[in-house]
Amino acid sequence: MHYQPKTDLLQNRIILVTGASDGIGREAALTYARYGASLVLLGRNEEKLRTTAQEITTRYGGQPHWFVLDFATATPENCQHLAQKLSGLIPRLDGVLHNAGILGDVRPMDEQDPQTWQNVMQVNVNVTFFLTQALLPLLLKSDSGSLVFTSSSVGRQGRAGWGAYAASKFATEGMMQVLAEEYKQQNLRVNCINPGGTRTAMRASAFPTEDPDKLKTPRDLMPLYLWLMGDDSRRKTGMSFDAQPNRKPGISE
Ligand code: NDP
Repeated sequence: MHYQPKTDLLQNRIILVTGASDGIGREAALTYARYGASLVLLGRNEEKLRTTAQEITTRYGGQPHWFVLDFATATPENCQHLAQKLSGLIPRLDGVLHNAGILGDVRPMDEQDPQTWQNVMQVNVNVTFFLTQALLPLLLKSDSGSLVFTSSSVGRQGRAGWGAYAASKFATEGMMQVLAEEYKQQNLRVNCINPGGTRTAMRASAFPTEDPDKLKTPRDLMPLYLWLMGDDSRRKTGMSFDAQPNRKPGISE
Protein backbone atom coordinates (compact mmCIF):
# COMPACT_ATOMS: atom_id res chain seq x y z
CA MET A 1 0.00 0.00 0.00
CA HIS A 2 1.35 3.43 -0.93
CA TYR A 3 0.26 5.60 1.94
CA GLN A 4 2.07 8.60 3.34
CA PRO A 5 0.52 9.30 6.74
CA LYS A 6 0.98 12.66 8.40
CA THR A 7 3.55 12.39 11.19
CA ASP A 8 0.90 13.33 13.76
CA LEU A 9 -1.74 10.93 12.34
CA LEU A 10 -2.45 9.35 15.74
CA GLN A 11 -1.78 12.33 18.02
CA ASN A 12 -4.15 12.28 21.03
CA ARG A 13 -5.44 8.84 20.12
CA ILE A 14 -5.46 5.98 22.61
CA ILE A 15 -4.98 2.55 21.06
CA LEU A 16 -5.02 -0.94 22.56
CA VAL A 17 -3.06 -3.73 20.86
CA THR A 18 -3.37 -7.42 21.80
CA GLY A 19 -0.38 -9.71 21.26
CA ALA A 20 1.87 -6.66 21.54
CA SER A 21 4.84 -8.70 22.76
CA ASP A 22 5.98 -10.10 19.42
CA GLY A 23 5.56 -10.23 15.66
CA ILE A 24 3.06 -8.00 13.91
CA GLY A 25 1.43 -6.75 17.14
CA ARG A 26 4.72 -5.54 18.57
CA GLU A 27 5.54 -3.69 15.36
CA ALA A 28 2.05 -2.16 15.22
CA ALA A 29 2.34 -0.92 18.82
CA LEU A 30 5.71 0.71 18.12
CA THR A 31 4.40 2.23 14.88
CA TYR A 32 1.26 3.65 16.48
CA ALA A 33 3.43 5.22 19.20
CA ARG A 34 5.72 6.67 16.53
CA TYR A 35 2.73 8.42 14.96
CA GLY A 36 1.70 9.95 18.26
CA ALA A 37 -0.70 7.46 19.88
CA SER A 38 -0.82 6.52 23.57
CA LEU A 39 -0.72 2.76 23.88
CA VAL A 40 -2.34 0.05 25.96
CA LEU A 41 -0.49 -3.24 25.46
CA LEU A 42 -1.82 -6.73 26.13
CA GLY A 43 0.10 -9.98 26.05
CA ARG A 44 0.71 -13.17 27.98
CA ASN A 45 4.47 -12.84 28.53
CA GLU A 46 5.31 -10.22 31.14
CA GLU A 47 8.99 -9.98 30.22
CA LYS A 48 8.39 -9.46 26.49
CA LEU A 49 5.53 -7.06 27.09
CA ARG A 50 7.64 -4.94 29.43
CA THR A 51 10.35 -4.84 26.77
CA THR A 52 7.86 -3.51 24.15
CA ALA A 53 6.63 -0.89 26.64
CA GLN A 54 10.19 0.18 27.50
CA GLU A 55 11.10 0.42 23.83
CA ILE A 56 8.14 2.72 23.22
CA THR A 57 9.15 4.93 26.14
CA THR A 58 12.80 5.08 25.03
CA ARG A 59 12.04 5.80 21.37
CA TYR A 60 8.93 7.95 21.49
CA GLY A 61 8.35 8.96 25.12
CA GLY A 62 5.17 8.33 27.07
CA GLN A 63 4.41 5.42 29.37
CA PRO A 64 2.22 2.75 27.77
CA HIS A 65 -0.15 0.93 30.07
CA TRP A 66 0.45 -2.80 29.83
CA PHE A 67 -1.41 -5.81 31.15
CA VAL A 68 -0.68 -9.51 31.21
CA LEU A 69 -3.70 -11.52 30.08
CA ASP A 70 -3.33 -15.11 28.94
CA PHE A 71 -6.09 -15.67 26.40
CA ALA A 72 -5.75 -19.44 26.85
CA THR A 73 -7.44 -19.16 30.25
CA ALA A 74 -9.07 -15.70 30.24
CA THR A 75 -12.78 -15.52 31.13
CA PRO A 76 -15.43 -12.89 30.34
CA GLU A 77 -15.05 -11.72 33.97
CA ASN A 78 -11.26 -11.25 33.54
CA CYS A 79 -11.95 -9.11 30.46
CA GLN A 80 -14.60 -7.02 32.25
CA HIS A 81 -12.21 -6.54 35.17
CA LEU A 82 -9.48 -5.35 32.80
CA ALA A 83 -11.88 -2.92 31.11
CA GLN A 84 -12.92 -1.59 34.52
CA LYS A 85 -9.27 -1.02 35.48
CA LEU A 86 -8.67 0.68 32.15
CA SER A 87 -11.61 3.04 32.55
CA GLY A 88 -9.91 4.36 35.70
CA LEU A 89 -6.74 5.08 33.70
CA ILE A 90 -7.92 6.36 30.32
CA PRO A 91 -10.94 8.43 29.23
CA ARG A 92 -11.72 6.41 26.08
CA LEU A 93 -10.27 4.09 23.46
CA ASP A 94 -9.90 5.41 19.90
CA GLY A 95 -8.68 2.12 18.50
CA VAL A 96 -8.33 -1.58 19.28
CA LEU A 97 -6.16 -3.92 17.22
CA HIS A 98 -7.14 -7.53 17.88
CA ASN A 99 -3.92 -9.20 16.80
CA ALA A 100 -3.10 -11.99 19.30
CA GLY A 101 -3.56 -15.39 17.77
CA ILE A 102 -2.32 -18.97 17.66
CA LEU A 103 -1.99 -21.41 14.80
CA GLY A 104 -2.89 -24.78 16.34
CA ASP A 105 -2.00 -27.85 14.31
CA VAL A 106 -1.57 -27.75 10.55
CA ARG A 107 -3.01 -31.19 9.73
CA PRO A 108 -6.14 -32.69 8.14
CA MET A 109 -9.50 -32.39 9.85
CA ASP A 110 -9.62 -36.07 10.78
CA GLU A 111 -6.35 -35.63 12.69
CA GLN A 112 -7.16 -32.31 14.42
CA ASP A 113 -6.73 -32.75 18.16
CA PRO A 114 -10.01 -31.64 19.82
CA GLN A 115 -8.17 -29.98 22.73
CA THR A 116 -5.96 -27.97 20.36
CA TRP A 117 -9.08 -27.06 18.36
CA GLN A 118 -10.64 -25.68 21.53
CA ASN A 119 -7.48 -23.75 22.43
CA VAL A 120 -7.40 -22.09 19.02
CA MET A 121 -11.07 -21.11 19.30
CA GLN A 122 -10.53 -19.86 22.86
CA VAL A 123 -7.61 -17.58 21.93
CA ASN A 124 -8.59 -16.50 18.41
CA VAL A 125 -12.35 -16.22 18.79
CA ASN A 126 -13.75 -16.45 22.33
CA VAL A 127 -11.43 -14.08 24.15
CA THR A 128 -11.40 -11.73 21.18
CA PHE A 129 -15.18 -11.54 21.62
CA PHE A 130 -15.04 -11.26 25.45
CA LEU A 131 -12.57 -8.41 25.18
CA THR A 132 -14.54 -6.65 22.45
CA GLN A 133 -17.68 -6.78 24.57
CA ALA A 134 -15.82 -5.44 27.60
CA LEU A 135 -14.06 -2.65 25.66
CA LEU A 136 -17.05 -1.40 23.63
CA PRO A 137 -18.13 1.21 26.21
CA LEU A 138 -14.64 2.78 26.10
CA LEU A 139 -14.56 2.62 22.28
CA LEU A 140 -17.97 4.29 22.01
CA LYS A 141 -16.60 7.27 23.96
CA SER A 142 -14.34 8.09 21.00
CA ASP A 143 -15.61 10.48 18.32
CA SER A 144 -14.01 8.19 15.71
CA GLY A 145 -13.30 4.70 17.02
CA SER A 146 -11.59 2.02 14.93
CA LEU A 147 -11.92 -1.65 15.82
CA VAL A 148 -9.61 -3.85 13.77
CA PHE A 149 -9.58 -7.65 13.73
CA THR A 150 -6.85 -9.83 12.26
CA SER A 151 -7.91 -12.32 9.65
CA SER A 152 -6.08 -14.54 7.17
CA SER A 153 -6.49 -15.71 3.59
CA VAL A 154 -7.74 -19.04 5.05
CA GLY A 155 -10.45 -17.05 6.82
CA ARG A 156 -12.04 -16.31 3.46
CA GLN A 157 -11.28 -19.44 1.48
CA GLY A 158 -10.77 -22.75 3.28
CA ARG A 159 -7.59 -24.70 2.56
CA ALA A 160 -6.72 -28.33 3.32
CA GLY A 161 -4.82 -28.73 6.58
CA TRP A 162 -5.68 -25.36 8.11
CA GLY A 163 -8.46 -26.79 10.33
CA ALA A 164 -9.11 -24.84 13.51
CA TYR A 165 -7.07 -21.82 12.44
CA ALA A 166 -9.12 -21.36 9.24
CA ALA A 167 -12.40 -21.86 11.10
CA SER A 168 -11.32 -19.33 13.73
CA LYS A 169 -10.51 -16.74 11.06
CA PHE A 170 -13.87 -17.30 9.30
CA ALA A 171 -15.44 -16.63 12.72
CA THR A 172 -13.33 -13.47 13.03
CA GLU A 173 -14.56 -12.18 9.67
CA GLY A 174 -18.13 -12.94 10.76
CA MET A 175 -17.71 -11.14 14.09
CA MET A 176 -16.35 -8.11 12.24
CA GLN A 177 -19.27 -8.02 9.80
CA VAL A 178 -21.91 -8.32 12.52
CA LEU A 179 -20.32 -5.57 14.64
CA ALA A 180 -19.86 -3.28 11.63
CA GLU A 181 -23.59 -3.47 10.90
CA GLU A 182 -24.55 -3.01 14.53
CA TYR A 183 -22.49 0.17 14.93
CA LYS A 184 -22.78 1.73 11.49
CA GLN A 185 -24.95 4.58 12.79
CA GLN A 186 -22.38 5.37 15.49
CA ASN A 187 -18.80 6.65 15.59
CA LEU A 188 -17.26 3.19 15.42
CA ARG A 189 -15.93 1.47 12.32
CA VAL A 190 -15.06 -2.22 12.33
CA ASN A 191 -12.77 -3.90 9.79
CA CYS A 192 -10.37 -6.82 9.28
CA ILE A 193 -6.78 -6.94 8.10
CA ASN A 194 -5.33 -10.00 6.43
CA PRO A 195 -1.57 -9.50 6.88
CA GLY A 196 -0.59 -12.11 4.27
CA GLY A 197 2.52 -14.26 4.75
CA THR A 198 4.80 -12.28 7.08
CA ARG A 199 8.18 -12.98 8.68
CA THR A 200 7.19 -13.93 12.25
CA ALA A 201 7.46 -16.88 14.62
CA MET A 202 3.93 -18.02 13.72
CA ARG A 203 4.72 -18.07 10.01
CA ALA A 204 7.94 -20.02 10.63
CA SER A 205 6.05 -22.66 12.58
CA ALA A 206 3.46 -22.99 9.79
CA PHE A 207 6.08 -23.21 7.01
CA PRO A 208 9.33 -24.43 8.62
CA THR A 209 11.09 -25.02 5.27
CA GLU A 210 10.28 -21.59 3.84
CA ASP A 211 13.06 -19.02 3.34
CA PRO A 212 12.02 -16.15 5.65
CA ASP A 213 13.97 -13.67 3.52
CA LYS A 214 11.32 -14.11 0.82
CA LEU A 215 8.65 -12.75 3.15
CA LYS A 216 7.61 -9.21 3.97
CA THR A 217 8.45 -8.10 7.51
CA PRO A 218 5.86 -6.76 9.96
CA ARG A 219 7.23 -3.27 9.31
CA ASP A 220 6.39 -3.57 5.59
CA LEU A 221 2.69 -3.98 6.47
CA MET A 222 2.39 -0.92 8.66
CA PRO A 223 0.95 1.52 6.08
CA LEU A 224 -2.37 -0.38 6.12
CA TYR A 225 -2.28 -0.77 9.92
CA LEU A 226 -1.79 3.00 10.23
CA TRP A 227 -4.40 3.91 7.66
CA LEU A 228 -7.08 1.83 9.37
CA MET A 229 -6.37 3.40 12.78
CA GLY A 230 -6.29 6.99 11.54
CA ASP A 231 -8.97 9.30 10.23
CA ASP A 232 -8.06 8.75 6.57
CA SER A 233 -10.14 5.54 6.70
CA ARG A 234 -13.02 7.19 8.55
CA ARG A 235 -15.77 6.06 6.17
CA LYS A 236 -14.68 2.43 5.87
CA THR A 237 -16.53 -0.20 7.84
CA GLY A 238 -17.45 -3.87 7.44
CA MET A 239 -14.51 -4.50 5.12
CA SER A 240 -11.62 -6.96 5.02
CA PHE A 241 -8.35 -5.51 3.73
CA ASP A 242 -5.22 -7.25 2.45
CA ALA A 243 -1.92 -5.84 3.66
CA GLN A 244 -0.29 -7.57 0.67
CA PRO A 245 -2.97 -7.44 -2.04
CA ASN A 246 -0.86 -8.95 -4.80
CA ARG A 247 0.46 -11.87 -2.80
CA LYS A 248 -0.77 -15.40 -3.59
CA PRO A 249 -1.63 -17.39 -0.42
CA GLY A 250 0.65 -20.31 0.48
CA ILE A 251 4.38 -20.93 0.68
CA SER A 252 6.82 -18.41 -0.90
CA GLU A 253 8.55 -20.08 -3.85
P1 NDP B 1 3.34 -14.25 16.50
O1 NDP B 1 3.24 -15.67 16.93
O2 NDP B 1 4.63 -13.69 16.09
O3 NDP B 1 2.69 -13.28 17.61
C1 NDP B 1 1.45 -13.60 18.15
C2 NDP B 1 1.18 -12.69 19.32
O4 NDP B 1 0.00 -13.19 19.99
C3 NDP B 1 2.31 -12.70 20.33
O5 NDP B 1 2.41 -11.45 20.95
C4 NDP B 1 1.83 -13.76 21.30
O6 NDP B 1 2.38 -13.66 22.60
C5 NDP B 1 0.34 -13.44 21.35
N1 NDP B 1 -0.37 -14.58 21.92
C6 NDP B 1 -0.34 -15.88 21.52
N2 NDP B 1 -1.04 -16.63 22.35
C7 NDP B 1 -1.53 -15.81 23.31
C8 NDP B 1 -2.30 -16.01 24.47
N3 NDP B 1 -2.68 -17.23 24.87
N4 NDP B 1 -2.63 -14.94 25.24
C9 NDP B 1 -2.22 -13.71 24.88
N5 NDP B 1 -1.46 -13.45 23.82
C10 NDP B 1 -1.11 -14.50 23.03
O7 NDP B 1 2.27 -14.14 15.30
P2 NDP B 1 2.10 -13.06 14.12
O8 NDP B 1 2.63 -11.76 14.52
O9 NDP B 1 2.55 -13.72 12.89
O10 NDP B 1 0.50 -13.02 14.03
C11 NDP B 1 -0.27 -11.91 14.43
C12 NDP B 1 -1.66 -12.08 13.86
O11 NDP B 1 -1.60 -12.10 12.43
C13 NDP B 1 -2.34 -13.39 14.27
O12 NDP B 1 -3.70 -13.15 14.52
C14 NDP B 1 -2.18 -14.28 13.04
O13 NDP B 1 -3.19 -15.24 12.95
C15 NDP B 1 -2.28 -13.24 11.93
N6 NDP B 1 -1.66 -13.65 10.66
C16 NDP B 1 -0.31 -13.80 10.55
C17 NDP B 1 0.27 -14.17 9.34
C18 NDP B 1 1.74 -14.35 9.18
O14 NDP B 1 2.17 -14.78 8.08
N7 NDP B 1 2.56 -14.04 10.15
C19 NDP B 1 -0.58 -14.38 8.14
C20 NDP B 1 -1.99 -14.19 8.37
C21 NDP B 1 -2.49 -13.83 9.58
P3 NDP B 1 3.87 -14.28 22.95
O15 NDP B 1 4.84 -13.18 22.61
O16 NDP B 1 3.78 -14.57 24.39
O17 NDP B 1 4.06 -15.50 22.10
